Amino acid sequence: MNNCLLVDTHLHSDNSPDGHHSAMFICESAAEKNLKAISFTDHCEIDVFYQDHYDRSTVQSYFEVLKARDAYRGKLVVLRGIELGEPTYNLALAEKVISRLDYDIVIGSLHNLRGLQDFYYMEHFTVEETKRYLTEYYDELIRMADWGRFDTMAHITYPLRYFYSRSGISVDMNEYKKQTDELFSLLAEKEIALEINTGGLRQPLNKLSPEADLIKRFRELGGKYVTFGSDAHYVEHLAKDFDKAAEAAKYAGFDCCVFFQNHNPMEIPF
Ligand SMILES: [Zn+2]
Ligand SMILES: [Zn+2]
Repeated sequence: MNNCLLVDTHLHSDNSPDGHHSAMFICESAAEKNLKAISFTDHCEIDVFYQDHYDRSTVQSYFEVLKARDAYRGKLVVLRGIELGEPTYNLALAEKVISRLDYDIVIGSLHNLRGLQDFYYMEHFTVEETKRYLTEYYDELIRMADWGRFDTMAHITYPLRYFYSRSGISVDMNEYKKQTDELFSLLAEKEIALEINTGGLRQPLNKLSPEADLIKRFRELGGKYVTFGSDAHYVEHLAKDFDKAAEAAKYAGFDCCVFFQNHNPMEIPF
């Protein structure tokens, strides 16, 4: 099997509030599936860092990953990562978190707008709200890209999952072209990767995040790298649907995906 289908750069252990398995058990499952490399990227939500005890869980995650990395040496490449949510809400804290431990990969992500809860917890949306929220969402992603202290940007169509599953609203991404173009140009300029997140395929929306046409636009605007992330919270989802991620990346004009080691992009040709 092509190696790009066997490297998962985004997954969660039980050191994430919504994770279900220990790092060691995840490594055992990944090795059984013959995966080549995995990055543990437990959540660290900067806006609720102390309230929700990410100060402790991120350290716990890091050291459990080190232990697992030693135990699986020679069998599976285990990489140290973090999913840094909402870094722009407190850049000083975000800087501190990513520089206090040696990470292979930092994922930049956004789950909630300023003063609002995670889209996951929101129960209903009107069409007017979806437009306002998405405009704000892309403004915030642009600010994040402008800051740029991360290796790949996760699930850039995250709110679409919940607009659809909670209120049956589908979004025409062409309406946000100006913002997504600006975002892609910034990511390209800073050589930050775009993540192709397959988690959306396990949602009612049933789509990659982002979809192939947006990945293609990223490429057209000079995007250099893509990462594949399952966003697995259960071992059965490790590297899930990576054939679809590869198909979309090829359609977009990429001939490889990457994973990160000490923040260096390592290419895996298709
Ligand atoms: Zn996320
Ligand atoms: Zn995640």
